[in-house]
Amino acid sequence: MSPKEITKVEITNEVFKEPKEVINQLSSNMDLKYTKVIQTYVMEDRRLNLALEHEGSSYFKGKVVWIGNKKDDTEGSIFCVDTKDELKQINPTAENTEKVILDVKKDLIKVSTASKTKCSVCGKNIEIFDEVTGCPICEAKAHKDHLTDWVRMKHTCPVCKKSLNVSSTGVIFID
Ligand SMILES: [Zn+2]
Ligand SMILES: [Zn+2]
Repeated sequence: MSPKEITKVEITNEVFKEPKEVINQLSSNMDLKYTKVIQTYVMEDRRLNLALEHEGSSYFKGKVVWIGNKKDDTEGSIFCVDTKDELKQINPTAENTEKVILDVKKDLIKVSTASKTKCSVCGKNIEIFDEVTGCPICEAKAHKDHLTDWVRMKHTCPVCKKSLNVSSTGVIFID
């Protein structure tokens, strides 16, 4: 193998943007078999691994089952990961993720996590397993369930206090 062969590719921006960009990066670096079902890319074989690590130590690992977009259609990608015990959804965003590296030799997506943002409703950290959403006006971030419940009850943003509402599909919009 040539020493110049690239085996690690940073895909952070692609992950934060949308599943299609992630798939493009994966496909150009490895032989990936998948089926696209609506907006979700379902892996045909379970060769792609995903690991979470924090400050250099790994704390979660499994096989990627599918990569899909966020339910409210905001930017970002969701990874469904099979740990053998359960299926877990990973929601890497700028609020909880330092960087995402594709290790081509190991068929591995390595996510370095960090708690950088607190939920503007409950005040707790937004973690990698949490679905995140934000105010469309001031972009304050929060756990998805917390902000949609808040807006349903109060019809305002908890931070900028502007009028908001929630659609029947859970999308927060400017009222
Ligand atoms: Zn919260
Ligand atoms: Zn706001």
